[in-house]
Amino acid sequence: MTNTNDFDIAVLPGDGIGEEVMACAEQVLAAVGQRIGRRFLLTRHRAGAQHYLETGAALPEPVLAACEKADAILFGAMGLPHVRGKDGTEIIPQLDLRFHFDLYAGVRPIRTFQGLPIPLSHPLAREIDLVLIRENTEGLFHARGRAEIRGMPGSESAVLDTMCISRRGTERICEYAFRYAERRAAAKGGTGRVTSIDKANVFASMAFWRRIFDETASRHPTVEASSAYVDAMALNLLMKPWTYDVMVTENMFGDILSDLIAGLVGGMGMAPSGDIGDHHGLFQPAHGTAPDIMGQGKANPTAMVLSAAMMLGWLGERSGDSRLEDGMILIEKAIETVFAEGDIRPMEFGGPHGSSAVATAILERI
Ligand code: ATP
Repeated sequence: MTNTNDFDIAVLPGDGIGEEVMACAEQVLAAVGQRIGRRFLLTRHRAGAQHYLETGAALPEPVLAACEKADAILFGAMGLPHVRGKDGTEIIPQLDLRFHFDLYAGVRPIRTFQGLPIPLSHPLAREIDLVLIRENTEGLFHARGRAEIRGMPGSESAVLDTMCISRRGTERICEYAFRYAERRAAAKGGTGRVTSIDKANVFASMAFWRRIFDETASRHPTVEASSAYVDAMALNLLMKPWTYDVMVTENMFGDILSDLIAGLVGGMGMAPSGDIGDHHGLFQPAHGTAPDIMGQGKANPTAMVLSAAMMLGWLGERSGDSRLEDGMILIEKAIETVFAEGDIRPMEFGGPHGSSAVATAILERI
């Protein structure tokens, strides 16, 4: 922070629709800044799969340094299917950022918006309002870059990716989930609930996870705690998603269920996220680069703009500046109004409105 009204934001638009949706978020932040009397100094940095193709570096050192110094990181999307490393996996710098800055809590809130259709017809489905907290730094993703390869290159007999569930990693994410549920219950009223998602019936690592979850739960007696197996949760999240509040899970399960819960409210373009650590926060839509629609102006920018709103909430909490929280609410209300009025229907919902039409409508309400 250069002065108390200015906030330095490292902006990484990235690849594919990342660029398109980021342009919308930048406009919204400029408008909100004026309304709340704060300046967001948005500095764009080039990184991602395309940058890797052009320069050989997906996440250059100076970009990391700029992210380190910034008050927050705003991220579009990175990765392109045809850009891959030697082991056949995609170039995914967002994972590197999570590990580098120890952004252990992947916070993924999902809610319905009046005026937008949802796939489930059950009347209670309109009440879906839940948050998935994904452990971001270990679990099955611990295996990334560490695969055990058996046999000779070209004639491998097996490749082993190992899941790591550590006490420290699990304690801190469970603790984060319970505190989050306590704050959410205080804001919304009622009792907070945390559901842990595991596979403790099969894997020792997951039985360990469940033990640590239960220990953490005992330190938060005002929050209702329960555990469920991931396969049952895949079913329950389709059958009765309105019964869930906060959920916490291992990295890979969180990756998969994030897309499922985004589908509950219409698609990836409605799913914001924050990757939060003790010292840094990165905010990005839960979606990827959507190569199938990139460069056509069709992307729904709502998830990106909601992620920028989450960033303001997080900055507000850290700095104690309540005007930032006002900014977050301003964005959320503007989006609610846009959809509730019914004139705007993003292409993702079968409507005619692309990124810039949605962004303009949000800006008008701000
Ligand atoms: P990643 O693995 O990087 O998360 P992915 O390949 O799983 O990415 P996405 O890029 O998230 O997938 O896209 C999944 C589907 O959702 C695609 O059909 C894409 O067009 C659609 N999609 C994603 N984001 C949006 C958006 N903002 N607006 C409209 N459609 C989107």
